[in-house]
Amino acid sequence: MSFSFAPLLTRMQELRDLGGAIGLLTWDQETYLPAKADEARGAQLSTLQGLYHERLTATALGDLLAAAAAQRDLPADQRAMARVLAWERGRAVNVPGDLVRAIAEAQSQGLTAWRAAREAKDFRLFQPALQRLLELRRQQADAIGHSGQRYDALLEGYEPGMRVERLRPVLESLSRRLVPIIRAVSEACARKGPWPLAGKTFDVEKQWRFTLRLLKDMGFDLDAGRQDKSIHPFTGGTHPRDVRLTTRLEAENPFPALFGTIHEGGHGLYEQGFSEEHFRTPLAAAPSMGLHESQSRLWENIVGRSRPFWRHYFPLLQAQMPESLQGLTTEQFHVAVNWVEPSLIRVEADEVTYNQHIALRFELELLLIGGQLPLADLPAEWNARMESLLGVRPPDDVKGVLQDIHWAWGELGYFPTYALGNLYSAQLWAAARPAVQPELERGNLLALREWLRQKIHREGYRYPAEELVQRVCGRGLTDDDFIRYLTAKYSELYGVTL
Ligand code: ZN
Repeated sequence: MSFSFAPLLTRMQELRDLGGAIGLLTWDQETYLPAKADEARGAQLSTLQGLYHERLTATALGDLLAAAAAQRDLPADQRAMARVLAWERGRAVNVPGDLVRAIAEAQSQGLTAWRAAREAKDFRLFQPALQRLLELRRQQADAIGHSGQRYDALLEGYEPGMRVERLRPVLESLSRRLVPIIRAVSEACARKGPWPLAGKTFDVEKQWRFTLRLLKDMGFDLDAGRQDKSIHPFTGGTHPRDVRLTTRLEAENPFPALFGTIHEGGHGLYEQGFSEEHFRTPLAAAPSMGLHESQSRLWENIVGRSRPFWRHYFPLLQAQMPESLQGLTTEQFHVAVNWVEPSLIRVEADEVTYNQHIALRFELELLLIGGQLPLADLPAEWNARMESLLGVRPPDDVKGVLQDIHWAWGELGYFPTYALGNLYSAQLWAAARPAVQPELERGNLLALREWLRQKIHREGYRYPAEELVQRVCGRGLTDDDFIRYLTAKYSELYGVTL
């Protein structure tokens, strides 16, 4: 019997279109949705997600995928498309419908309890909901399947192919090597205090205009995407030709807008850079959240907090906002964007201390999913580990164990992707630097976009994340390049020996 890829392709395209519609409704929910439409939107999204799940798990799709897998002479891209979709379908099919519904219900209860606990600054109000979520996640991990390590099944939802036994030694090494760097750099930084922008205000309209200029200079196509405002910046959209970024404006501090835009711009360039022949197929996607995050971190931290970048952009920003930046030198501004200080809140952490926040969460998640840490002890365990990793102790649960929304949803396995993003970003930079650095010195950001497009973006989901990094950098996951990057940058910037 002859095989035709066409019916399978049609189903792939339908799934991507449904996903795009879900993406648009979600983006709208976070940006422009009128408050009273909240409930209606929830229903619309849940209907569409139900349809998506139905089509994904349909027996007919399973048969088409099995037939494709049996073909020996399928072109490589078609084989990869079928493999990626079969993997996604496999995870969905194995989890029974009543477990999916139970998780959704527990998530909504978790969110409500988490909000109440934050209000009261008391973890105990969240504890029963978290207990329930953990039980369901264990069931889910068992349903998906694993080889003895439940966390692997959850981690793979965000980082396909990654395993605890691969990840853990790298993150442990990273955490260990960070301790002396954090101590030396934060002490040197404190001696420079106070923070050079303290007490200033920044016109939000001017901030907004500057972020749009940055996006254009990075090569983000504003005819194939847009930027709006939201409380929590994110990248969404419906298609590589419709990529939607958001940013956040604050009058007292221009950094959420500037670095939020550069960060989301990095994600956005990835989405816009997928190959046209992969559009509406499973290959027009990043192979992992960690690799996606490598793009945003590379732009935000390695480029956006570099001296060449601000040598070029600070005079322009200063000319836009003389009332805020008069009298400040490029060097002072460069110090301000690289302020290093151990702090309690992950999302406000600098690039030197950030990964310790991830180390803390990763280790706790392993204990939680393994049932090795009684939930009642979680806040105290959090605080003790925070003190040993960063030398700061949360005064209450809101600034400690209740700070992130991830566990409120029972989302476990996601945090490591942030650290992977940092590590991969430094590996990619080490590979790109010889060709790209001279262009950056000239204020040309397009050379980096082009390099990433050729090496990473246009490949889409052809290869698993670490395999792609291996191909491009000659080496799989390592903390060496990140440590080298930090050491070189901060020993020079703060005149310390690292
Ligand atoms: Zn990101």
